[in-house]
Amino acid sequence: MEKSGFKFIGPTPESIRLMGDKVSAKQAMIRAGVPCVPGSEGALPDDAVVIKRTAKAIGYPVIIKAAGGGGGRGMRVVHTEAALLHAVQTTKAEAGAAFGNPEVYMEKFLQNPRHIEIQILADQHRNAVYLHERDCSMQRRHQKVIEEAPAPGIPRRLIEKIGERCAAACKKIGYRGAGTFEFLFENGEFYFIEMNTRVQVEHPVTEMITGIDIVRTQISVAYGEKLPFTQRQIQLRGHAIECRINAEDAYKFTPSPGRITTWHAPGGPGVRVDSHVYANYFVPSNYDSMVGKIIVHGDTREQALARMRTALAETVVEGINTNIPLHRELMVDASFMAGGTNIHYLEEWLANRQR
Ligand code: ADP
Repeated sequence: MEKSGFKFIGPTPESIRLMGDKVSAKQAMIRAGVPCVPGSEGALPDDAVVIKRTAKAIGYPVIIKAAGGGGGRGMRVVHTEAALLHAVQTTKAEAGAAFGNPEVYMEKFLQNPRHIEIQILADQHRNAVYLHERDCSMQRRHQKVIEEAPAPGIPRRLIEKIGERCAAACKKIGYRGAGTFEFLFENGEFYFIEMNTRVQVEHPVTEMITGIDIVRTQISVAYGEKLPFTQRQIQLRGHAIECRINAEDAYKFTPSPGRITTWHAPGGPGVRVDSHVYANYFVPSNYDSMVGKIIVHGDTREQALARMRTALAETVVEGINTNIPLHRELMVDASFMAGGTNIHYLEEWLANRQR
């Protein structure tokens, strides 16, 4: 595309290729000084002795991951040496069939981490800044359901330290545009898992607390402009939460395509709705089930939670099922309200609810 004279809004093909392969991404991050989950050096070889030795050195449980994996697929947790070789073989076979690349690698499986990610913006003049963090730990099947910024309870200096590493890594690899470094966070430590070389679903929470239009900035840096702010000019204000609204059964998660008969979105100060749908819109069954996002901002996390409760109460969607009832329950859940739940919390909550 670039050869044909078009300008692509986003990173270079080289950056996308480098970060699209999780093995090469991780190696680049280690070189750039970004902390990673302890694991194999690159892809696993075929040698059974080496595989066993690697797992032993890392310590069980370990996770076998496909280099080309994505969307929460191509991963397998192994608890004992007896199950190791079979797991590696199966993951390789699946990865070859699903992603066209049978390469797999090994990492320590972290037991109770949070998912914390750092938003970055970089221009073509080797300037890069971090827009602080998002907490995306509320997940089901490795898919994010609720995101917020800042992450409850993590000291700002820890975020600044990892943020600076991410910005420095961007300069080192010549990254341009918007991007996200995803980390698992456990016992006060960050462990890089992957980089997303694009603007993400959850970017509005960062826009709400920084006042920076990420999409606009992405376009202006693609045009060749310099970043219009320095790191020091990026100030955080208040707290933001996003609920992903999906066309699905709220608790069974079966997709619910069809015609929306009523669509009433919430409003008021500190409430943003990003959606493409309207009354009489037909939700097709062929695509992702997301029909919109409700994002709220408040001076404090408590105020943001209160605004989200009101916003969800005001929302009326008829004709299809949505996960709004689930969000309404989670916004009054004691642990979520306390903040800092880990990546397993939502699945455990759902399992307990069904009992
Ligand atoms: P994908 O590209 O498929 O989203 P990621 O590498 O980002 O894959 O991992 C997705 C999710 O899988 C993470 O958010 C986390 O829940 C889980 N996960 C990945 N690696 C590990 C690990 N080493 N330990 C524990 N959980 C992990």
